[in-house]
Amino acid sequence: MIPINNRNIKFNQKLSKRVKIEAMARLPSQFGNFTIIAISDLVEKKEHAVLVKGNVWNENDVPTRIHSECLTGDAFGSLKCDCREQLILSLRYIENHGGILIYLRQEGRGIGFINKIKAYSLQDEGLDTVEANIALGFKVDLRKYDVAAEVLKILGVNSIQLLTNNPDKMKQLRKLGIKITRRIPLIAEPNEFNYRYLLVKKQKSGHLIDENIFAPLGIEQQETIFWKDSDDKNTKNTGGK
Ligand SMILES: [Zn+2]
Repeated sequence: MIPINNRNIKFNQKLSKRVKIEAMARLPSQFGNFTIIAISDLVEKKEHAVLVKGNVWNENDVPTRIHSECLTGDAFGSLKCDCREQLILSLRYIENHGGILIYLRQEGRGIGFINKIKAYSLQDEGLDTVEANIALGFKVDLRKYDVAAEVLKILGVNSIQLLTNNPDKMKQLRKLGIKITRRIPLIAEPNEFNYRYLLVKKQKSGHLIDENIFAPLGIEQQETIFWKDSDDKNTKNTGGK
């Protein structure tokens, strides 16, 4: 039996005028059994997905992943980035611990799919991810998290543990009134194609991708999740209490 009844997900739509919960259903997946929620952003007219496991209403320290769409990585298994690994690690973690995955349709760090592939084309010619975005006239990162913050409010979450390596995401969420009690890093082992991408993320975008760096904005860090292709479980605790 699937333990989730989607009617168990409580929400208060009145807490947001911008985000509307449109539909809810069970989603059995290879990573676990979730409730999937279809939401619409009434301001930017976009559709997003939210996966929930367990009770989150009025809960503290809810494990939360806010994942921006990466079609090439998430769906096609592109080796140019670590998005798919981070997505899978997050789903497994949420399956085991309960929590929320908010999947935002802001492809290519917010520049859109076509521009992302244009940037890939420039990368084929030798530019790195940051240089390519700048060459196309974009800022390095256009992602926004207003919608995610509204979703957390509607779902009645008191505080979250954020699955991320991205300090800017934490800063933006805090500005939007979200209480983050802990960061849970997601570490993907570099491959020959994304090694440079990960290095640029770390050096130019300030991502905390070295598991030895334990100074994530004053947040206590107890646990790191590592990705290994050979490891089916992919979740292990290091450090910690
Ligand atoms: Zn990606």
